[in-house]
Amino acid sequence: MLYETPPEELGALLGDTPAYRADQLRQWLYRDFVLETTAMTNLPMPLREQLAPELWPFTVEVAQDGDAGRTRKWLFRAPDGASIEAVLMGYDDRVTLCVSSQAGCAMGCTFCATGQFGFERHLTPGEIVAQVAYANAHLKTRPMPSSPRRVTNVVFMGMGEPLANYPRVEESLRRMVEVMDMAARSITVSTVGVVPGIRRLAAAPWQVGLAVSLHAADDELRSTLVPLNDRYPLSEVMAACHEYFERKGRRITIEWALMKGTNDSRDQAVKLAAIATELGAHVNVINLNPTPLSHEQPTERAALSTFMSALEAAGANATLRATRGQDIDGACGQLRSRGSDRPLTITTE
Ligand code: SAH
Ligand code: SF4
Repeated sequence: MLYETPPEELGALLGDTPAYRADQLRQWLYRDFVLETTAMTNLPMPLREQLAPELWPFTVEVAQDGDAGRTRKWLFRAPDGASIEAVLMGYDDRVTLCVSSQAGCAMGCTFCATGQFGFERHLTPGEIVAQVAYANAHLKTRPMPSSPRRVTNVVFMGMGEPLANYPRVEESLRRMVEVMDMAARSITVSTVGVVPGIRRLAAAPWQVGLAVSLHAADDELRSTLVPLNDRYPLSEVMAACHEYFERKGRRITIEWALMKGTNDSRDQAVKLAAIATELGAHVNVINLNPTPLSHEQPTERAALSTFMSALEAAGANATLRATRGQDIDGACGQLRSRGSDRPLTITTE
């Protein structure tokens, strides 16, 4: 598999072809992006044919379009059956790909469909960067209406907890920044609060953004939603975020999924604002996307604006984010494919 080989070692796969072939291949895999090796026009035809089955480390099982063509979701399938989901969102000034870092997730957050369905396995660096490469190759043949024709931003907000898969995620970041030439600042790693992972990422050389999924502003409530809070309570998560901010000079983002009657009170808003201002963090509020195995519901419109006003009044810097991909089960927290047991609408590419 081409993406399973580190980009610097591609030559070893090519036997006794001239050395510059590895550079050409690397260029196709990490810069130029094509859906099929037959389009790698500067490689000899026999080599293109030989590499054809090796290009993608997965097959495309389902591709769906939503939001009038500006959201695209893929369910990829690895040869061992693991499912990998990625969601592409087009805007006027950017195209953001939401990538998965694990098949499933072991963290068990109660309100998240991925957590509800459990852990399958870690994704490899190749499987992570191939999601970005595939989306780029796809955008070249099928651009989105009035959006850039390449992936400009990557967020690790698909399936999985990236910092519980640290070494592989770090290698995927290295390839995105140093080989694909993406701006580190346009990449965001989202974590539920894996403290050792936050510290390791703080020490890594790239200025990637960090988003921390808080959802509750005190330990008592947070432990009911996020089991990992028992291991890394809020004070420890905050200390690690401080370190991240100091080392990178990048403002942290706090993610907050609003759940009706659970974390949408004034009291939580005030406590959240205190945490955010102390950290100098920006708060991204998103209304919950309901999931099958949880009774949590989204907050109603009036309570939502009360919550936002309370945050603002308490001095927090906050934005209410619109949800994308709800019509194709591609919204935050709704990714949950396991095995082939899941009914999905299939659209053709
Ligand atoms: N494991 C990482 C990244 C993947 S989850 C993390 O938890 O941060 C990406 C984001 O989706 C997180 O902010 C997560 O809290 C949020 N999320 C999970 N379930 C959700 C739901 N049902 N509705 C809205 N957001 C949800
Ligand atoms: Fe895992 Fe993030 Fe879902 Fe929690 S919210 S179960 S950490 S994917």
